[in-house]
Amino acid sequence: MIKNVWKLPLRISNSTKNNGFPVTKYWIHSQPNFTKNNFNIKRGNFSHVEEEHLYFFRKLLGESRIITDLSDLEKYNVDWNKHLRGASTIVLKPKTTEEVSKILSYCNNNRLAVCPQGGNTGVVGGATPVFDEIIVSTELMNKVINLDEKSGVLTCEAGCILQNMDEFLQQKNLIFPLDLGAKGSCHIGGNVSTNAGGLRLLKYGNLHGNVLGLEVVQANGTVLDLLSTLKKDNTGYHLKHLFIGSEGTLGLVTKVAIQCRLRPKSTHVAFLGLQNFNQVLKTFYKAKQDMDEILTAFEVIDTPSMELANEKLGLGSPIGDYPFYVLIETTGSNEKHDEEKLDGFLQTCLNKNFILNGTVTGEVSKYKAIWEVREKLPQGYIKDGFVFMYDMSFPLENYYKLVEDLREHMGSLSHRVFGFGHLGDGNIHIQISVKEFNQDVANHIEPYIFELTKKYNGSISAEHGMGFLKAKYLNLMKSQESINLMKNIKQMLDPNGILNPYKVLF
Ligand SMILES: Cc1cc2nc3c(=O)[nH]c(=O)nc-3n(C[C@H](O)[C@H](O)[C@H](O)COP(=O)(O)OP(=O)(O)OC[C@H]3O[C@@H](n4cnc5c(N)ncnc54)[C@H](O)[C@@H]3O)c2cc1C
Repeated sequence: MIKNVWKLPLRISNSTKNNGFPVTKYWIHSQPNFTKNNFNIKRGNFSHVEEEHLYFFRKLLGESRIITDLSDLEKYNVDWNKHLRGASTIVLKPKTTEEVSKILSYCNNNRLAVCPQGGNTGVVGGATPVFDEIIVSTELMNKVINLDEKSGVLTCEAGCILQNMDEFLQQKNLIFPLDLGAKGSCHIGGNVSTNAGGLRLLKYGNLHGNVLGLEVVQANGTVLDLLSTLKKDNTGYHLKHLFIGSEGTLGLVTKVAIQCRLRPKSTHVAFLGLQNFNQVLKTFYKAKQDMDEILTAFEVIDTPSMELANEKLGLGSPIGDYPFYVLIETTGSNEKHDEEKLDGFLQTCLNKNFILNGTVTGEVSKYKAIWEVREKLPQGYIKDGFVFMYDMSFPLENYYKLVEDLREHMGSLSHRVFGFGHLGDGNIHIQISVKEFNQDVANHIEPYIFELTKKYNGSISAEHGMGFLKAKYLNLMKSQESINLMKNIKQMLDPNGILNPYKVLF
């Protein structure tokens, strides 16, 4: 049922109350059980970390860049969702490529398994150990190496935090071509290793297009210099693409060269209320038709997602309650032109009854407040009991079907089934919240959800990767020939299998 249907003038004035939302509260979760006890998995034939190994690492890095204290290890052993918990006894924090090389070479020779870790914001369990893998954290590899202001090419170390890089670029009137809710913690190396998609992909494309070069350390310690900054370079195989999205299983990324763009001069954000998903699609097609060149983001939020934002985060819709919400961002170089285009588009959508209500702003504080609702949704759902999380992509006509099917399939077994995401890229995050984890419920969801995704011609991982949690479903997405080739590549680059075992290919 739609409440508060009214057609307001679309632009927010300075005097409206919608200029901010309550600040998010943070919460404390109890620690999860050890992954090795929760999942039926056999430890690989790797050595355990002994005193002689510790001696080597201490000599290489010094005491201050090694963590062995149990309570200090927790933050590295537990994943962002607090569903998984590794049993690593050591974190290493190299500062240079040379140190990474010596660590990996030593681990390879001694059959010690390694889990590369960036900001540990991944949501498929790729960044946390399953058993006692050595965690190699890139957090101290956080220097900018070079910024070519004319070409916009940024070269930086893998441990640079995304938000820091974007703020650095802002001073030079440039923008990082990737943005996501975890920007305050995730690392560029982690972004590259997951081929992160995020909020601006609609405009800037994915990292396979934007990453110009990489430096990678292979499992045996060999440093692979692929750090080209050229846009065109067809000299043989494009090896960097092997490492983009390989989730730390083929090599450890130490440096990244990335093509950044000029910072747009004008940004506008519209937040709209819609009657049903069909209208969402019509609005998207119209947005593409009317303003493709300035369309940067087209995000969708359904009612249960908004209810969750309200209940768990104290955030809410600035325009009242609707069955669906759409957040549109445009960016461009001409304020007046962009504003006119967006207003014209919104007026047409209102006239055609695609949208029921909306608000639009070009003011930084206001559009940040609107974005906050969308960006903080993941922080809300981890407070909603236990949440089964999925990240699918579909042809647009099938985009929301799975959510509806799942509601029926789950019945009273779930508390909430909800979907939100980057509709502009066909990417939806589907969440099923239950009171607490229950294996019978898990079996009721999987593999049903993945099989249906396949039936709807979708992907079971649009942007988060396979990590640990989805690895066993790889065969649903890839032919046996493709999996064999992936295994051959892994065998060639990491014959002892020390790099992020139990992930992706398992
Ligand atoms: C609130 C929130 C919002 C999010 N929004 C998005 C989104 O919009 N789009 C999206 O794509 N993702 C999103 N994510 C997921 C996550 O932030 C991304 O996957 C991100 O790219 C992970 O970066 P990280 O540095 O935290 O990597 P980690 O979580 O530390 O690691 C991720 C994987 O990469 C590997 N890895 C990390 N660093 C290296 C390295 N230097 N070399 C080799 N392997 C490495 C790890 O072993 C692991 O397999 C979100 C997560 C949260 C918590």
